Amino acid sequence: MTATRTDYDVIVLGGGLVGLALATALARESIEVALIERGPLQCFAEPADAEDWDSRVYAISPGSADFLRAVGAWQRLRAERLAAIEMMDVRGDGDGAIAFSAYELGERALAWIVEHRELTSALVESVRTAEHVDVLAPSQPTAVAWRSDAALITLSDGRSVSARLLVGADGVRSWVRREAGMTREPRAYGQTAVVANFTIEHSHRGRAFQWFRDGEGVLAWLPLPGRRISMVWSAPDALAGELVALDAAALATRVSAAGEGALGALTLITPPAAFPLSFLRLPSVVSSRLALVGDAAHGVHPLAGQGVNLGFGDTATLAAVLSAGRPIGDVGAALLLERYARKRAGPVLAMQLVTDGLVRLFESPALKRLRNGGMRAVAAIAPVRRVLAQSALR
Ligand SMILES: Cc1cc2nc3c(=O)[nH]c(=O)nc-3n(C[C@H](O)[C@H](O)[C@H](O)COP(=O)(O)OP(=O)(O)OC[C@H]3O[C@@H](n4cnc5c(N)ncnc54)[C@H](O)[C@@H]3O)c2cc1C
Repeated sequence: MTATRTDYDVIVLGGGLVGLALATALARESIEVALIERGPLQCFAEPADAEDWDSRVYAISPGSADFLRAVGAWQRLRAERLAAIEMMDVRGDGDGAIAFSAYELGERALAWIVEHRELTSALVESVRTAEHVDVLAPSQPTAVAWRSDAALITLSDGRSVSARLLVGADGVRSWVRREAGMTREPRAYGQTAVVANFTIEHSHRGRAFQWFRDGEGVLAWLPLPGRRISMVWSAPDALAGELVALDAAALATRVSAAGEGALGALTLITPPAAFPLSFLRLPSVVSSRLALVGDAAHGVHPLAGQGVNLGFGDTATLAAVLSAGRPIGDVGAALLLERYARKRAGPVLAMQLVTDGLVRLFESPALKRLRNGGMRAVAAIAPVRRVLAQSALR
């Protein structure tokens, strides 16, 4: 686990969920990895009490769950902290509505709700027990040099580490992306995601809800185990500011009313947290000796809950491409990086078109009839509804 060497096959820069998953996936292919993370890499402590739930949760698609199982992380999640989304109700800001059901698709769940703490701890444990990974954390890179056969990172303690390939998994404001001269910056949506957890009066029965609200962004309620939900309200910045300033009872009343009282009275159990939202689309996610994954490679609106799922898709694809390309004898070969970029271009573009398109569609008052009519039309045609849901699952 401590670095004993300086020349690696791959340096993964950034130990968020995507970087952790990538380091584990590559190590499983016997690719020698150095994982550099500026913060400490640690498992979270056990929850303090029964109402201690992380307000940051992810809707993990069945496809991502399969990938996480393959890298040995999914098995580490505790069943009692997981909730299955079995049904999903999406409502427009008029009379549009659409529902999805796992049963109709022949799946156990449309997605699994997993806390950030749980998933991070599972992936950290997987990295810790993997061979072929050296963890350098906390560790801050200060410079990167690009050679024709390797990338070389200098760390703030004076050490340097090199590899055939450097992978930027360092988030939406990626340092390495800028260092590589990829200067495109994320575009702010003017919306902030407010997240918080509540206990509920009526059981959710595995149902998730989403409301596209007239001038108030997108409100989602995701099921947690027991009589609890996690809220993600992607609200215009000014409204988000108002929401986080409310006291617990006022916030619960406001959120319950915005959700049409669908689950009865709500009681706040974790204080709200706010995340500014941005969109990022790059002309290319690779350059000489560099590949980008996760939020460093693309920014999507969380309304479809697909950001980290896209990142796991990048990770699974990159690991598969590098493993299959072993006979070339150079994991940083341009041919392999181009193959990775080609394979990811379609899924990322499709998700960005859908999520960004929906945000725009629901921003314009003039399009209210069109969007609600569109929802009704899709809802009425079962095969179209199934195709939409299937693509999100995988
Ligand atoms: C409110 C909200 C709800 C969301 N819900 C969902 C959901 O339901 N489903 C879903 O799929 N996605 C969801 N997302 C998106 C998801 O959170 C992100 O896509 C995902 O966390 C990105 O992971 P990452 O590892 O790429 O980046 P990050 O999580 O940003 O990790 C980057 C890592 O790199 C490290 N780092 C940064 N710079 C450096 C440096 N210079 N040197 C060393 N280390 C560095 C950081 O410390 C960090 O650990 C949601 C997002 C928001 C805001």
